[in-house]
Amino acid sequence: MSKQACIIFDFDGTLYPIAPYDSEQRLIRKVADAKGTLFRQRAKRLIAQDQAGKLIDDAFHTRYAHLVRTATPSMIDEVARDISLFLSEEDSKALAALSCRADLAILTCGTENLVESFLQHIGLREHFFLIRGKRLVWDEPGRNHMVVDIDSPQAKAEALELLRSQYRTIVAVGDGPTDMPMLHASDLPLIIDWNRNKREYPFETYGSIPDICMRILAYLESA
Ligand SMILES: [Mg+2]
Repeated sequence: MSKQACIIFDFDGTLYPIAPYDSEQRLIRKVADAKGTLFRQRAKRLIAQDQAGKLIDDAFHTRYAHLVRTATPSMIDEVARDISLFLSEEDSKALAALSCRADLAILTCGTENLVESFLQHIGLREHFFLIRGKRLVWDEPGRNHMVVDIDSPQAKAEALELLRSQYRTIVAVGDGPTDMPMLHASDLPLIIDWNRNKREYPFETYGSIPDICMRILAYLESA
């Protein structure tokens, strides 16, 4: 049910720290564990290029879809459980408290299946009403294909704009360059910097989920 305010989170690097791999790179590594040398080399190369920021939008999606097409739901679950361990009980409680005041959504260029499983592991699956990214759909056990919904930073901003008619206030939380259009489109753009590396960001920056949630609650109070 609409609560007049919507808080939109990015996923990778925002709801958990990338240390050193993000959820999709972890899934590629998980699939590669059971494969031969050639596959593992291809996986390693894609991850290295991705980490170097050399792949944007389709250049990554297509090769990722190819590499993870034998991924299984239990691999998704294992990766999601591993990254859920980055969050403390305090982090989950802060997000749960926020959901009492606003509708929570996730807009990501990442994989919806990983997001959903992650939320399940931290006990917050039902606290998020909307999750949009790209999805693995299984054609048969052990073989999937990818359906891409959100495919670019600009698509995240457009997905935010679609929610404008339903909400008086839209807050966005992100961690990096791919969030910039979405953050610019929001009423209150916030950055989470898990590593507290003191980099200069163009928006208010916080070092933890509870700190971000406290800022959002204060903003909603005054809005
Ligand atoms: Mg991110």
